[in-house]
Amino acid sequence: MKVLIKGGDLISHSYVGKYDVLISDGRIEKVAKDIDNDNGYREIDASGCFVFPGFIDMHTHLREPGFEYRETLDTGLKAALHGGVTTLACMPNTLPAIDNKANVSFLLGKSKDLHLADLLVIGAITKRREGKELANMGEMKMAGVVAFSDDGSPVTNSHIMRRAMEYAKSIDLPVISHCEVTELSNGGHMREGWFSTYFGIYPIPDVAESIMVARDIELSYLTGERLHIAHVSTKRSVSLVKQAKRDGIPVTCEVTLNHLLFTDEDLFDYDTNKKVNPPLPTRKDQDVLYEAIEDGTIDILVTDHAPYAPHEKEVEFQRAPFGISGLDLFSNMLFEVHRRSGIGMRKLVEAATFVPARLYRLEDKGDIKERNLGDLVIFDPTQTWECLPEILYSKGKNTPFIGKEIKGKVIATLKNGEIVYDAEEGMMRRVEEIEAR
Ligand SMILES: [Zn+2]
Repeated sequence: MKVLIKGGDLISHSYVGKYDVLISDGRIEKVAKDIDNDNGYREIDASGCFVFPGFIDMHTHLREPGFEYRETLDTGLKAALHGGVTTLACMPNTLPAIDNKANVSFLLGKSKDLHLADLLVIGAITKRREGKELANMGEMKMAGVVAFSDDGSPVTNSHIMRRAMEYAKSIDLPVISHCEVTELSNGGHMREGWFSTYFGIYPIPDVAESIMVARDIELSYLTGERLHIAHVSTKRSVSLVKQAKRDGIPVTCEVTLNHLLFTDEDLFDYDTNKKVNPPLPTRKDQDVLYEAIEDGTIDILVTDHAPYAPHEKEVEFQRAPFGISGLDLFSNMLFEVHRRSGIGMRKLVEAATFVPARLYRLEDKGDIKERNLGDLVIFDPTQTWECLPEILYSKGKNTPFIGKEIKGKVIATLKNGEIVYDAEEGMMRRVEEIEAR
């Protein structure tokens, strides 16, 4: 079956501007101006819309196994397609933790059977994510993990982190570090500064993050291991990563869309949907994050999708857990970052497609070009809609955008050349899924 996407405004690494895209047997066959449709291809009109490569979100929490009341693979992967995300990686802080091959296989097998977005799995660095004993990383690599992380918790013991990085290097997989010195952050709920004092909320100093960023950069220098710093949120962290890159240390980093859209000042209403870890940056730090995307110090954009049940977030600010739901709104949040920061769409799109595909060696993803998979998003920047809880596929309605008017809309998401989400029809069934029944 061939699908022709006509009249769209492509934003990708290889093509920017008005091009038609012809997809054949799940892969992009041709990208060109004005492709004729004499052969009865199925045609999708994308005029007035952006066409992006399917987004790749390398930092999400899908809560399964163990916390299915917050999210399941089914709801999380549907939320992804709704937001234009066709490939995503889930963190191992589940119950039980993803620290062995059986749990990795469970997630990979179950997600394949759902025929929604492609799931990648990140294995734990240490058993039960306790930071004490290395997990069996080699066995998890054979089961298919793409990286290791104890995300949600730091590996506090530097010796164990060193051994983990040596081991991960020997099997050629990156380590993703959640950098947080808990002796400095424990008991805090927002970034330390003028606003934390004004709002009377116990604070977390910025160095709680950057001290551990510095440690892990030094360990990357020592071991030669590819290190990826999760969710950088301070100017000191950015500065350390920038210097490390200059020094030739194999370090990359990410920022979440939340940290690009909100600041500590936005907590004036004590909205628990804006409570996140690391805490929201000051405006000055946010400006540094914007610059760091422009100059390439920050490599990729992620959601850090962290869904919670209403009863967990509808409590006092101090008692609420950290985390923001984000997958449903991926395209919208990225577009909003563009509108607020002025950073070019191509730069932002590449940071959520081409660059993560390169870092995690996803050969045929992350770009619109011949022979890549037909994973695409059609996004209308002019439409607006109201973000009502029932519209979100995620069980987590904990986003600051809830109840708000949203600018721009995903019209369709294609996976392997098939429409899997359609704004009017909702989730569509894929041919391979129908055949599997
Ligand atoms: Zn984290």
